[in-house]
Amino acid sequence: MINGQKIWTSFAQAADYCELLVRTDPEAPKHRGISWLILPMDAPGVEIRPLNTLHGESEFSELFLNDVRIPVSQRVGEENDGWRVTNVTLRFERGTAFAGEMVELQEYLRQLVGVARDSLRGGAAAWEDRSLRREVGHLSAELDALWLMVKRTVSEAERAGMPGVGASAVKLCYTELYERITQLGMRVLARAGLGKDAVRGLPAPDWVYFYHQAISVSIAGGTSQIQRNIIAERILGQPKDR
Ligand SMILES: Cc1cc2nc3c(=O)[nH]c(=O)nc-3n(C[C@H](O)[C@H](O)[C@H](O)COP(=O)(O)OP(=O)(O)OC[C@H]3O[C@@H](n4cnc5c(N)ncnc54)[C@H](O)[C@@H]3O)c2cc1C
Repeated sequence: MINGQKIWTSFAQAADYCELLVRTDPEAPKHRGISWLILPMDAPGVEIRPLNTLHGESEFSELFLNDVRIPVSQRVGEENDGWRVTNVTLRFERGTAFAGEMVELQEYLRQLVGVARDSLRGGAAAWEDRSLRREVGHLSAELDALWLMVKRTVSEAERAGMPGVGASAVKLCYTELYERITQLGMRVLARAGLGKDAVRGLPAPDWVYFYHQAISVSIAGGTSQIQRNIIAERILGQPKDR
């Protein structure tokens, strides 16, 4: 019988199934004693309460589980071995699942160039500013490098059955690029980015939305600080975080 509550459950209101981690041995150390279950969202006792975001969307829900029963046949991995299973799914999430969003980031950068061409700075288009063009060039090159990292992660997953620990580097680079591109967009929009409506045809509301999304991406799937800890400990061999 499962009882509990989970806030920030992405797309719970649309999902047919959910990955559910449940504590099955309360005496075990915190990363042990967890089991990984497949929860059908229409199981009796599952209550889904959509949450509205700042932008009025209900991307998330809060999930309540009241005396939910799941057969042992729907457990993935052994009992109390759920953290290991989670680390596999997290590596796919961090290393490969953002590929679609990375293509979107390339599109945002193209849009940003359009915004810079349409924004005036001291009588000339913002795009005339060489330092801005250099910054866009750097970001574009870094996006290309990120795309290669994703391809390498996908090949690694194909060979080994799962992505390696470098998945954390992919997630961190993606998040940081997302933040830098949207911060640059807000800088180019300047005062136009303060309003809720488009100003002189500039798509300010879209960029405010992208800017907020970048912040949430830095938390979803494990925060940037946690990715840095993983990279430091498991790739660079630094002492363990206390
Ligand atoms: C867009 C989005 C979608 C999400 N979707 C889901 C979902 O579908 N399912 C789900 O289960 N969860 C989901 N979450 C929750 C998300 O996984 C957690 O919010 C995230 O992992 C951070 O955990 P936390 O909120 O407990 O923060 P905490 O762990 O409490 O961290 C708080 C702060 O402390 C820092 N911190 C914590 N530990 C350390 C450390 N050891 N070293 C340095 N800094 C540290 C963190 O980086 C952070 O800044 C989602 C969140 C977002 C934003």
